[in-house]
Amino acid sequence: MELLTIILLVIIVLLTYLLLKKEKVLGIKTETKDNNDQIKVVENKDYRKNIYDLLNYIPEGIIILDKGKKILFSNNSANKLFQIKLDENISGFLRNPDLLSSIDKSFEGNNISDLEIEIRNQAVQRLNITIYLDQNNLFFDEVCCVLFIRDLTEFHKFQQLKSDFVANVSHELRTPLQSIKMGLETFENNSDLKKNSEVTNLLPVMSSQSERMENLIRDLLSLSKIELQEHIRPTHEIDLIELIDYVIKTYEKIISKNNISIKFNKTDNFKIIGDRDKLIEIFTNLIDNSIKYSDKNKEITITAKKDGGFNTVSVADQGIGIPKESIHRITERFFTVDPSKSRSVGGTGLGLAIVKHLVSQHRAEMDINSVENKGTTIDIKFNPL
Ligand code: ATP
Ligand code: MG
Repeated sequence: MELLTIILLVIIVLLTYLLLKKEKVLGIKTETKDNNDQIKVVENKDYRKNIYDLLNYIPEGIIILDKGKKILFSNNSANKLFQIKLDENISGFLRNPDLLSSIDKSFEGNNISDLEIEIRNQAVQRLNITIYLDQNNLFFDEVCCVLFIRDLTEFHKFQQLKSDFVANVSHELRTPLQSIKMGLETFENNSDLKKNSEVTNLLPVMSSQSERMENLIRDLLSLSKIELQEHIRPTHEIDLIELIDYVIKTYEKIISKNNISIKFNKTDNFKIIGDRDKLIEIFTNLIDNSIKYSDKNKEITITAKKDGGFNTVSVADQGIGIPKESIHRITERFFTVDPSKSRSVGGTGLGLAIVKHLVSQHRAEMDINSVENKGTTIDIKFNPL
């Protein structure tokens, strides 16, 4: 999606450049009158034709709409995606409430917006659409909306295959693993076997490894499910203060065992639109990391604050921190700064990859700040209700 936005910006800059340099490039000459007023003398009235020709070479679908959502222009790529007739209303073939309301918002002044939609014509199509408001009459002699459309249908089919494969394999691994765990528990309770030093040495290793495998399978299943649902926006009203209080309560035992304290700085009216279970998963993962990567007798501070139009929740610890060069990698799947440390605390390197997808599903942002041997602060910025 970021790539598409960059491509879009390059196109806009290029077109703006063309328009600014239209004297040379597009054949429009500017004359200066004595009173310093500038008037345009259009030598080549078809200068916009050059722009439309250029748009026809762009691999993304491009549709330009007037205020009534009627089609003024569609490039070759868009015509391959849909059956488009000029002057027709876009809702004729792209009937999606999110898209139509985003176009309305764009005409109200929301300069650029990005959304992913699913439409069902003959087949299901998954599209990423960036909407740009042309207020400078770059394309037509009126304010118009430009839709940059990327067809993600094939990419999502591939994602679906990958997720199904991971889900099936993980599911199949669960049953034999349960049997192994049950066998280990039986051995652990057998006093005769416990007399054998080889067995007593091996049993804890086998138990912790099977626990690790169980966590890995659980996280892989969770990640593949989340990836498939990332485009579905949550719809429930959630009081984040109540939810974080709930998550902290579930950690009471572990906290007191490790002699770690959690301080929660609350604020009033801290509601967002979200999914309760997924928000619990986000904060569970963050608090879990803060505990795992902190020494005993340390403090974790969770702060809810209203900040620059966002409802921001910070989870800050005084733990081992993350080296500067690794900060940008910690949300990658399976990435751990110190694999042996993560293994010793039962980590699989999937927690923050899951958090990243859940944060994106909530249309929220995540900032990570960390100083080695000082601690880590992760901010999640939600749009308020
Ligand atoms: P999992 O969450 O799947 O059990 P994990 O904790 O190792 O395993 P992530 O939560 O994805 O995986 O974190 C990735 C890595 O980032 C961790 O292994 C650790 O190296 C580093 N990390 C994450 N949070 C912190 C933190 N609060 N302090 C220090 N390092 C951290
Ligand atoms: Mg983790």
